[in-house]
Order: sequence, then structure tokens, then C-alpha cells
Amino acid sequence: MIYFRNEDAEYIRWIASNDTGFVANLGTGRKDCARIHTPSCKHIDNAGEDQTHTILRPKACSHDRDELVSWVKKQGYFVASCGSCDGLGIGDEAPA
Ligand SMILES: [Zn+2]
Repeated sequence: MIYFRNEDAEYIRWIASNDTGFVANLGTGRKDCARIHTPSCKHIDNAGEDQTHTILRPKACSHDRDELVSWVKKQGYFVASCGSCDGLGIGDEAPA
């Protein structure tokens, strides 16, 4: 598990070289929601409305989806799957 906050260059390097991993987009849609994507998803390709990837919406990345979901829930986020890319989607889950 690796967490990126205000580290756009490091985050972009991670998604470019880890195409089999998973990315949790924290604070997406609503502040307490994290959406799980794969690194190649078009939804996390572009910068957010603040023109950054990791300030308004920090990212947590891992190759282990279960580990990622578990960590995100422990931070107090609801977890949702991306309808476009996250084929292992498990639907909405409440924080731990
Ligand atoms: Zn996605």
C-alpha cells in the first residue's frame, strides 16, 4: 500500500508502471467516499478540478485490492467500485 498526497509526479510514475494494480481515489463525489479504479482507467487519467491529481483527492495504491479496501475503510471512507474499470467490484461498503 502506498499513499500519495501532494505528490503528483510520484503518483503518475506509479500508475504508469503498475498497470495490474488498484487505485483508490479518495474524496471523490463526496468527501467521505473512495472509489476503486485500475491504473489505466480514464477517470483517474485527468487532473481534478484543482488541476492536481493528489491534493484535493489523494490516492492510495496497491497490488492487493483487499489490502487497499481494508486500509481505505480504516481511514473512515465509504468504498465504491468504478463502474467502468473495476471488474472485481464489490459495491458500496461502509467504513470499518
Ligand atoms: Zn475506473
